[in-house]
Amino acid sequence: MSSISPADRVFILTGAGVSAESGIPTFRGVNGLWRNYRIEEVASPHAWARDPWLVWEFYSMRRRVAAAAKPNPAHFALDKLEQRLGNRLSLCTQNVDDLHEQAGSLRVVHMHGELFKSRCDGCSRPPFRDTNTYDPPAELPRCECGGRIRPHICWFGEVPFDLDRIFRALDECTVFIAAGTSGVVEPAASFVAHVAGRARTIYVGPENPANASAFTECHLGKAGEVLPNLFTQVS
Ligand code: NAD
Ligand code: ZN
Repeated sequence: MSSISPADRVFILTGAGVSAESGIPTFRGVNGLWRNYRIEEVASPHAWARDPWLVWEFYSMRRRVAAAAKPNPAHFALDKLEQRLGNRLSLCTQNVDDLHEQAGSLRVVHMHGELFKSRCDGCSRPPFRDTNTYDPPAELPRCECGGRIRPHICWFGEVPFDLDRIFRALDECTVFIAAGTSGVVEPAASFVAHVAGRARTIYVGPENPANASAFTECHLGKAGEVLPNLFTQVS
């Protein structure tokens, strides 16, 4: 067990495993496929260009699953930590669901976008909240400019959001925690290497991630069981 002292700044990276106990499946579980498609085949600019309906059917399904999900003790533990640490905590998630916000977290950086937002693929109209589900044979949603409305998601091959802000927070942190992330999706998988040697690096999840050797501590277990008891003292 660890403690957080007043001089510490904490960076938390969460991945799909943190939402697993809320009933949102991870991609790399036993059944990492959707209708026999690998995830890369439906979550990429190439898929959008070739078959936008297939992409919207996939994200409509994910919106339905996420809309039914509730935060679990892992999300609540991270909200509690934010309440104690305020802006000494940075919460960066690869998750596109809104369970951190539902648990109360106020400063969540969604590096891979947000499931309940959409944007135009043709103009610079900012992303907007969109909880609709789109299924054929309806019309594909269109922007006033004529462009197609797409999910506000960072697809494979696209650049994640807010990387400047994320690396500033990484540069300042003294404690780095990754929870529920397999350590294979870049650039998030390399965050731990960026801070190693200078920050305490802690992993939380049921199995060692691919980048386990970069962590000083691995706490094996479910995020909902480990995170609420990870720190004995927070000041
Ligand atoms: P991943 O699917 O590659 O890995 C999930 C990790 O979670 C695995 O290491 C697994 O051991 C761990 N895990 C499973 N159950 C857990 C639990 N109860 N507690 C803690 N850990 C648990 O996920 P990733 O590393 O986040 O990367 C894949 C990509 O998938 C990301 O880009 C992310 O955007 C996306 N994704 C998001 C969601 C979501 O928003 N909820 C769901 C699936 C995938
Ligand atoms: Zn537009």
